[in-house]
Amino acid sequence: MSASSRTFDYLVIGGGSGGIASARRAAALGARVALVEAGRLGGTCVNVGCVPKKVMFNAGGLAHALEDARAYGFSVQVQGFDWLQLKRGRDAYVARLNDIYAQNLEKSGVQVLHGRARFDGARGVLVGNERLSAPHTLIAVGGRPRLPAIPGAELGLISDDVFHLEQQPERLLIAGAGYVAVELGGVFAALGTQVTVAYREASLLRHFDAMLGDGLCEELVRQGIRLEPYSAGTRLERVAGKLRLERQLGEPLTGFDAVLWAIGRVPSTAALGLESLGIVLSETGHVPVDELQNSAVPGVYAVGDVTGRYELTPVAIAAGRRLAERLFGGQPEARVDYFDIPTVVFSHPPIGTVGLSEAEARLQYGDAVKTYQARFTNMYYALTEHKPKTSIKLVTVGPEERVVGLHVIGLGADELLQGFAVALRMGATKRDFDRTMAIHPTAAEEIVTLK
Ligand code: FAD
Ligand code: NDP
Repeated sequence: MSASSRTFDYLVIGGGSGGIASARRAAALGARVALVEAGRLGGTCVNVGCVPKKVMFNAGGLAHALEDARAYGFSVQVQGFDWLQLKRGRDAYVARLNDIYAQNLEKSGVQVLHGRARFDGARGVLVGNERLSAPHTLIAVGGRPRLPAIPGAELGLISDDVFHLEQQPERLLIAGAGYVAVELGGVFAALGTQVTVAYREASLLRHFDAMLGDGLCEELVRQGIRLEPYSAGTRLERVAGKLRLERQLGEPLTGFDAVLWAIGRVPSTAALGLESLGIVLSETGHVPVDELQNSAVPGVYAVGDVTGRYELTPVAIAAGRRLAERLFGGQPEARVDYFDIPTVVFSHPPIGTVGLSEAEARLQYGDAVKTYQARFTNMYYALTEHKPKTSIKLVTVGPEERVVGLHVIGLGADELLQGFAVALRMGATKRDFDRTMAIHPTAAEEIVTLK
């Protein structure tokens, strides 16, 4: 049976952060748009990423707050914690968001097709038995968690699975050193799981300013999380019902109910038929694009995680919207600036970071770099026995001391960063920070009173 065919102005493959944003913006600008989604609308962020993760982060924060409340005079007796109730509430919230995304796409006039899309050379894109074609096609297929190439890897979970768990594991091993490892490690520990984090190098969050990883390690250990550096796994197996990870150095790590791989993501490009178009993928499987999101093939573009640059939702959204404005909005130069992108790691405590780390700045600017640092106890902990530290580092460059990096770990770092990111983009100097009146008593005031 031959495929039926339809033509649009803009064809978007992938209904995640980047694809939905681009499709809706293009439709608002008058384009006839089709969006193809193989799974649930909203993609990684809504279904198995930012959104359910933030719910879990909040649950972890509440567990800590219940502990801290005692120091403030509350007689708190936690009678238990219902993992399934949390899961059900979270799932219902995500399902509501799925519906809202569907409604918004409909309201915008975007035609949504459910199915897996595959390029069929110059003949367009196949979705099931239907052939779609358009002068402009966007690849926004995102990625999925990476599994290590070791025997038994399939016995471990990936982050998607965590959101389906019906039971909280008692003993959990997390392999990884990045966002997911420290975010989910913190959540599980706060909710009562015994957590071990194993990573192949000396420290966590190695790609951020060193102060952040060091500060986080200190705090995770205080919270009872076991850290196992230099732990590259070589085999995962089940022994007497429990999981056991052999590693290159040291004794195996044993006795786990679950193991979570949190070692990065791979792009979902393998079965897309990109070779039929003549697109050559990078070594990591990403779609190479220029600064305007153009692939090597005219009329084919990519945004978001599939491009392998800053795997963050707001980056995918912004790139998708700028592309639509360039193609359909008469803005030929519309593009995303891939610098000074602020990001928060929702660890306990959270981390906020924007701009260059001290090491990156020194590599780029040598002796012209000057840093300012502070380390203090947030007043929230004035009455508690434990006194977790907040650390701040401002990285400046040149005689005018232009601020090129800001790094914060501690309570409130997640919410305070956004405004400072505006200042960085505007080219603020240390003097601008000094001239800004402090807000007392807050953690953020320490950033404008650094000596
Ligand atoms: P995705 O959102 O992954 O969407 C791609 C879509 O394409 C998917 O829905 C997929 O089903 C679909 N698809 C794939 N192949 C096909 C095909 N052949 N045909 C049709 N459809 C297809 N970012 C933040 O900014 N803040 C956070 O707090 C945050 N937390 C995260 C927590 C976790 C656990 C994870 C895993 C990620 C997190 N991220 C966070 C990252 C964020 O989720 C991604 O950067 C973002 O979702 C990327 O958007 P995207 O549009 O590129 O891809
Ligand atoms: P990350 O890239 O953050 O961290 C993965 C880390 O795992 C690497 O940095 C590396 O650290 C280590 N690693 C890589 N390969 C291996 C391997 N084969 N064996 C052992 N360790 C390995 O990935 P995540 O999976 O944590 O998250 C994926 C992406 O999703 C993030 O990059 C981020 O962009 C996004 N995300 C964003 C969040 C947010 O905005 N808050 C939250 C969660 C995810 P090393 O080299 O030091 O060993």
